[in-house]
Amino acid sequence: MTQAPVPQRYSSRLSVIGEDTRVARALPHRARRTVGAWCFLDHAGPVQFAPGKGMHVGAHPHIGLQTFTWLIEGEVVHRDSLGNEQVIRPGQVNLMTAGRGIAHTEDSVTDGARLHAAQLWIALPEGERRREPAFQNHPDLPIVETGGFRATVLAGSALGRTSPAQVYTPLVGIDLNAAGAARTEVPLEPGFEHAALVLRGAATVGGEALAPGEWLYFAPGRSALELRCDAPAHLLLVGGEPMDEPVLIWWNFVARTQDEMQAALDDWNAGRFAAVRAGSPAAPLVAPTLSGVQLRPGA
Ligand code: MN
Repeated sequence: MTQAPVPQRYSSRLSVIGEDTRVARALPHRARRTVGAWCFLDHAGPVQFAPGKGMHVGAHPHIGLQTFTWLIEGEVVHRDSLGNEQVIRPGQVNLMTAGRGIAHTEDSVTDGARLHAAQLWIALPEGERRREPAFQNHPDLPIVETGGFRATVLAGSALGRTSPAQVYTPLVGIDLNAAGAARTEVPLEPGFEHAALVLRGAATVGGEALAPGEWLYFAPGRSALELRCDAPAHLLLVGGEPMDEPVLIWWNFVARTQDEMQAALDDWNAGRFAAVRAGSPAAPLVAPTLSGVQLRPGA
């Protein structure tokens, strides 16, 4: 067996979504735009909102991707331009396939409540990126107890179980939550690249200490990853086959060319997307201008 390559360490950056919800954004990173087809990773909370406050993200569009929402604490209601209205609860995934275009809103069900969630995006491959939009709530995901970690298989297959979430490229997502000291070894698909992120607590991943807001990138070629913690810790592990397409990411869109991106921005600002099911108290978002910006595909 060959020596595994040294993992690369990255930091998340603070960003703000909706009206005033702070998130730690791991992906895209300037030096690492995608991990498999995962092209966006926001970690929100855990946060206790002040009275009258909550997460409120007004109507906004997506193209060329799937939004993958993993709820750990709190309740969020999703409304979209297909007419869906869905409350997502802890332990559930909302998977929205934007394809050729969809718009949605995301709101805390109750203001002044707690929220802890991750939202990821998955870039759709060339043959699937213009498909019809779709939305699915997944209330029951496979759970495996392993070495003190409670592992939830969010996407793909891991630890002998397969998530029901429909994805279009080979990838994996696992939530690993330990109530105390724990140690396990997670088998990996050697053809995948992976990223490990600590959501809460501190852990050692592949022999490297990791604190909240930090994440590690593991190049393809690993068949397993050791996870350890001495106290309660919560991690997210994502991976996939490296994307060989020049993906552009801008605002809420994934595309391949600058012209295509501009057309999507214009379509949104001109009201050419289907209307989102009413109910969000938040104002619709305005697409930012692309003038003067030269988009480049990620590494
Ligand atoms: Mn969205």
